[in-house]
Amino acid sequence: MSEPSETHAPRPEEEPSTGTSRRTFLKILGLSGAGATAAACRPAPPHIDQKLIPYLVQPEGITPGTNTTYASLLAEAGPEPLGIHAWVRDGRVLNLEGNPDFPLNADGMSALGLSTLQDLYDPDRVPGPRKKGGGDFQEAAWKDGIQALGKAVQDGDVVLLTGTGTGTRDRFAEEWAKAVGARHVRYDTFDYAPLRRAHEIAFGRAEIPTYAVDQADRIVSFGADFLATWLEPTALGRRFAHARDIEKGRHARFTFVGPRLSLTGSNADDWLPARPGTSGLVALAVAHVVAQKKGGSRGLELQGVLATYTPEWAADKTGVAADKIQKLGEEIAAAERPVALPPGPESQGADATDACLAVALLNHVAGAIGTTVQFGVGPQRGQGATLAEMKSLAGDMKNGKVRTLIVAGPNPAFTLPASAGFAEALGQVPTVVSLNSHLDETTAAASWILPGSHELESWGDAEVLPGAWALGQPVMQPVFDTRQREDILLQAAAAAGIKADFGAQDFAGYLENAWREKHRASGSSQRFDEWWFDTRRQGGRWEGAPGKPTSVGLSRAVTSHAFSGGAGAPARGKFDLVVYPGSYLYDGRGANRGWMQEIPDPITKCVWGSWVEMHPDTARPLGLENGDEVEVTSESGKVRAPVYLYPGIRKDAVGIQIGQGHTHYGRNAAGRGVSPLDLLPDTVDGATGSLAYAGVAVQLSATGQKAKMVKLQGSDLDYGREVSEIMGVEEARKAIGEHQVDLSELVEAAWDSDPMSPYRWGMTVDLNACTGCGACVAGCYAENNLAVVGEERCADGREMSWIRIERYFEATADGGFQTTHLAEMCQQCGDAPCEPVCPVYAAYHNPEGLNVQVYNRCVGTRYCSNNCPYKQRRFNWFTYDFPYPLNLQLNPDVTVREKGIMEKCTFCVQRIDRAKVQAKEKGRLVQEGDFQTACQAACPTHAIWFGNLKDPTSRVSRIAKGARSYHVLEELNTRPAVTYLRDVTHAELAQET
Ligand code: SF4
Repeated sequence: MSEPSETHAPRPEEEPSTGTSRRTFLKILGLSGAGATAAACRPAPPHIDQKLIPYLVQPEGITPGTNTTYASLLAEAGPEPLGIHAWVRDGRVLNLEGNPDFPLNADGMSALGLSTLQDLYDPDRVPGPRKKGGGDFQEAAWKDGIQALGKAVQDGDVVLLTGTGTGTRDRFAEEWAKAVGARHVRYDTFDYAPLRRAHEIAFGRAEIPTYAVDQADRIVSFGADFLATWLEPTALGRRFAHARDIEKGRHARFTFVGPRLSLTGSNADDWLPARPGTSGLVALAVAHVVAQKKGGSRGLELQGVLATYTPEWAADKTGVAADKIQKLGEEIAAAERPVALPPGPESQGADATDACLAVALLNHVAGAIGTTVQFGVGPQRGQGATLAEMKSLAGDMKNGKVRTLIVAGPNPAFTLPASAGFAEALGQVPTVVSLNSHLDETTAAASWILPGSHELESWGDAEVLPGAWALGQPVMQPVFDTRQREDILLQAAAAAGIKADFGAQDFAGYLENAWREKHRASGSSQRFDEWWFDTRRQGGRWEGAPGKPTSVGLSRAVTSHAFSGGAGAPARGKFDLVVYPGSYLYDGRGANRGWMQEIPDPITKCVWGSWVEMHPDTARPLGLENGDEVEVTSESGKVRAPVYLYPGIRKDAVGIQIGQGHTHYGRNAAGRGVSPLDLLPDTVDGATGSLAYAGVAVQLSATGQKAKMVKLQGSDLDYGREVSEIMGVEEARKAIGEHQVDLSELVEAAWDSDPMSPYRWGMTVDLNACTGCGACVAGCYAENNLAVVGEERCADGREMSWIRIERYFEATADGGFQTTHLAEMCQQCGDAPCEPVCPVYAAYHNPEGLNVQVYNRCVGTRYCSNNCPYKQRRFNWFTYDFPYPLNLQLNPDVTVREKGIMEKCTFCVQRIDRAKVQAKEKGRLVQEGDFQTACQAACPTHAIWFGNLKDPTSRVSRIAKGARSYHVLEELNTRPAVTYLRDVTHAELAQET
């Protein structure tokens, strides 16, 4: 029996969902030459027919059955551009890893970035051109679609709506719009306009600086969820872990200011729970204290403008006690290299620019500008339209000023609040042509869909830092009948008879020409073809990036700036609403990816739905418990969702995540959960017109019903069982100072592995470095063919993930709590309780110390799972589907398990075996750095380390012998091969009773 819950019957255009058909297999095999040679030469444009030729002559550089790696770029995956290495086998992408040369994410990845694989192989992508007729979309020919678009272009009043970008795709869109007389509007969900404007006011530079968190000794975030959704979370995660590397003698104290502890807030030592939209006022008061304490010319410059914003003044408006603001200010003043990060969207109110400006001034008086806040070297982001500008576009659409809207990328009908009127205005535009790959909410309103190819099937580039350019190249042939978006526009312009010279027949040529200019400008002595080959091999050119930040001075005007001081804040309701981007769903783009729905939210551990976060002290008097349904009502709308009790939110606030509530977009997304955007009025930041997400008053009422809420973690506490360990920073420093590592001793015991084997594989997980981002979990899904089981099965506790990030709360002396995130996988015990209970020896101990699971021996008694104290074994109750073309992503090195089989983490045994074969060919043993497990490769903070415990000098051995190391449930004497390193906090922990 097949598990049907989250899959659907194949549509007529799909291949059967069970396995790859012979026709598809031949197609893939035949095309793999073209796809796989992407790094060496440009693949033919997809509209040119390909001949199916078997490997009579094997293409150079391709060995069937082995992965070939290509460097590319993900610019649309989430909040940040990600440099990637795509693992391609037989013409299809199997996995993604970070590009170590890339200046932002380097070798780390994000869960959202990894899940773009599921976007590529999404069965719900629009498989070819479609024309609306009779209220539904009908199959159509490209020729007709291009003609129709060409005709629309001829008719005029065209608006081209694209995402924001910093590269050639954006330049092309601008040039194309100019050539055809269209208006080009750029839009991205989160626009960062207040941050840019604030820096323009403060320093005369409308830019986003680099926040060098890694160099800081004191960190404060005034609401930015910089480890999950704000700016460049993968790079910032790495910098954050660096700043708190206690073994290297540093551990920057981190304070989070905001109404709700986000993933970033959960990693903080201290929490100042300011009312939604008021964290900028706290920043003003902190700047006041720092200016007073630090004095000096910087303090004097701003004394006037900061004079009235005392901690007492701020306490009244923000709900944060004055003594806590005073203390934070004193600590920042005393720090050598402090850094303050501005509010993110969840803290962005009607005075968002003032809030960002307050943080900028704080950084100035604290001496952070030029040291930990660096201008001239910051991440490059395209500037998109603000809410005010999108409303103006919607007005034009309603007033008949837009005859044709071409949507190429964004989905504003979902990501803008309903009050903006965009979705409504779409219906007034005579012709809407969508080049989006999914039938999203905006595309659903289109008259034509001419589906664009996925990023991994397209050419593109981006200037990620000033002068540092990343290149995106197609790493495989299109999965569906799609075309590069820019090629569609070129063909439409030709059909319209526009005589514009774009310098090339297609976008690949256009982009190559753009890189020819860069080659000339670089002054390289290499010939262009050699230089271009190297560029494609390494994924871009970084040598033009400026090494040093630009020095900036305070602008005179700011010294007399009139802060609103929260004067324009709306009246408070019974509850303030906190609307925040989802860690995995972001602005909703992750919602149709099964991994992103099924990997538990890092804070609530809920899956597949929406919930309303509420403080337990507020909920209980109202008689509300987890899962009780409530109706949340604002002036603009209402939504219903279950209550989730969370002590990390203010007692007078309720929080709802953005990302769910789709009406379209695919089987996993449509009809699931609610969107808090429906509750937002069209209030904007006065200085920029950017949407105010914070400062909305809501009412709440219980419906008296229970709603479905699936949570995959049982308890928030480990009840002193020493599962999740945390220690004070002084205790950690003392322990590290006194600790001696004896390299002559092995970590493993004699019985952990075969004495004749040179290997005992082991792993370390540093809880102090782990931020709980979940990239390791997504990496494991991608590598090991893990099934997505759907909401119903998750509710039954039958999720299949091999790694579980457990989130525990630890009480602190002041009545608060600290959060630890613990990545737990099979512990590969030396004395494994799972092994002796298996009646058929399916679970056995291999000579290298791994707890091996022989799938074709397993008869499914599940004794092993019952006996596993770590609950790290997963039983296949069904044969789960990987509907076509999701099955094309399956890793051929890993068996796809069927009903009745027990499975679990294998330490990526297939990678171990590959490394052993490669080492043997070189006549040596596997060495440190030869390979990484999938979770280790994905982790942006290097919290996971893997290697050979039989080598006493290996890094994993040394880390496992460290001062902070422990084993989970050590008293059971299972001798796990996974060693954890205790989390470290500046907070004073409560005494255990
Ligand atoms: S161990 Fe996993 S959850 Fe923790 S930081 Fe690394 S990737 Fe993120």
